[in-house]
Amino acid sequence: MTRPKYIFCTGGVVSSVGKGVTAAAIGRILKARGLKVAIQKLDPYLNVDPGTMSPYQHGEVFVTSDGAETDLDLGHYERFTSEDLNRTCNVTAGQVYGHVIDKERRGDYLGGTIQVVPHITNEIKRRVILVGEESGADVIIVEVGGTVGDIEGLPFLEAIRQMRMSLRRKDTLYVHVTYLPYIGATGELKTKPTQHSVRELRGIGIQPHVIIARTDHRVNREVLDKIALFCDVDEEAVIPLVTTDLLYDVPLVLEDAGLGDYIVDRLKLPATTPDLERWRAMIAQMRSAEKPLKIGIIGKYVELHDAYMSVKEAAFHAATALDHRIDIRWIHSGDLEKNKDHGLRDLDGIIIPGGFGYRGVEGKIVAARYARENDIPCLGLCLGMQVLSIEFARNVVGLEDANSSEFESPGKHNIIDLMPDQRGITDLGGTMRLGLYPCHLVSGTIAANAYAEREVIEERHRHRFEFNNTYRTAFEENGAVFSGLSPDGRLVEIVEIKDHPFMLGCQFHPEFLSRPNEPHPLFKAFIEAAIDRCSVRTTETMQT
Ligand code: GLN
Repeated sequence: MTRPKYIFCTGGVVSSVGKGVTAAAIGRILKARGLKVAIQKLDPYLNVDPGTMSPYQHGEVFVTSDGAETDLDLGHYERFTSEDLNRTCNVTAGQVYGHVIDKERRGDYLGGTIQVVPHITNEIKRRVILVGEESGADVIIVEVGGTVGDIEGLPFLEAIRQMRMSLRRKDTLYVHVTYLPYIGATGELKTKPTQHSVRELRGIGIQPHVIIARTDHRVNREVLDKIALFCDVDEEAVIPLVTTDLLYDVPLVLEDAGLGDYIVDRLKLPATTPDLERWRAMIAQMRSAEKPLKIGIIGKYVELHDAYMSVKEAAFHAATALDHRIDIRWIHSGDLEKNKDHGLRDLDGIIIPGGFGYRGVEGKIVAARYARENDIPCLGLCLGMQVLSIEFARNVVGLEDANSSEFESPGKHNIIDLMPDQRGITDLGGTMRLGLYPCHLVSGTIAANAYAEREVIEERHRHRFEFNNTYRTAFEENGAVFSGLSPDGRLVEIVEIKDHPFMLGCQFHPEFLSRPNEPHPLFKAFIEAAIDRCSVRTTETMQT
């Protein structure tokens, strides 16, 4: 096997400049050249994974097929490259330190003093190399989280610095993503912060080969040349990346600026001529989709769209593929508890996404009821499926006290309950039902129809609670259909409501498998139903 090449991405000046999207976009332009790519994120925080972090801290937790709870950037990586990543692709300081300290306790280093250099840095390097060995990729893109200058990022930067030597210099490339602030008074873009962050990086021993300059304004050649001169980077390797309204445009911006060819040239990659025709056609389609479609997302973190990143993207993929411009209405579930309408009537479709804890759940139940009673297409995802079920139990089956044992335990009717194998688990981190599991579809249902009558599908999960089988018959007698079940029939995976245009909840997270060029079947079916409602709504408005 030929040795993989490594591209290390660091960030400077400020955080949140889109380093993750940039890494993902580099992955796409290399893949377009017939190269196999894998992407890894190194997160310098001490949590073992983001699974236990609040969305306020971290945004969405992205789940891989092998059940790792990872940084949301992995979602970008998968969506941009259509490569399935795994648990080796997100490394945190918590994992690294935990592993080294466990080894120390076992006596593996007997006699030695355990230090950040070399023990922690060696463990980081081992994990970076592992992705190369396991993925069989030609190029591994490694994004270091945080910003150069953060204390906790130092061991990671030291590790990737050392890798330049251990991997052969010609097999490594360093990309630094920075930000150019704009001074309104003089109308200028400033390069000084970029120069400082490159100096900081050099102080650690890393000289970047490529600088990607994120900015909200058009950058002229002079500014780019100045960066090249002061940061000692080839002029053609200073790439401006102006904020775009469409994330998926970033690969094309980088490609058109010549980054793909530059990387191939520097790393001597066995690349074919880039084929981005389909991607370009997809962007054209996304841009030309004009018919508006109002979709409500009901959540408790709606001021923080990152918490629903994959849901938002999946809805966008499906809508644009069906020629509609999605207009997402973020509705706070807490507000629905106070005001039971809150604009739901004007929506073409309602998504109730996943979540944990009781806060906001009653508002989501209000939304589910409104959707069911008013024939508004409604898609419930994980907790959303549980909410759809609680609402149905309370208002159709007649079990007024129905609830989930996550919120009321023991309750009179825990129609959502712990799985037997979840009882007695005390650790919260990494102990849920996680990752890909098969689901059998019942022919003739909305779900089976959405998946083109496939018998078995596989979807990613992240939950602790399940539909309580004691209530299955009562549900069926009242018009619910269990259209997806685990292969042994024990676990309810999909529930849908009869005589409704689209009222479906799934215990898994379909949003993790949606790709911009391949919308997810369930999202597509939901959006189709929303489009139908939209045309009815529009005609009604025209008549009144
Ligand atoms: N809190 C619910 C459970 O653990 C749903 C989880 C989710 O929506 N991801 O089962």
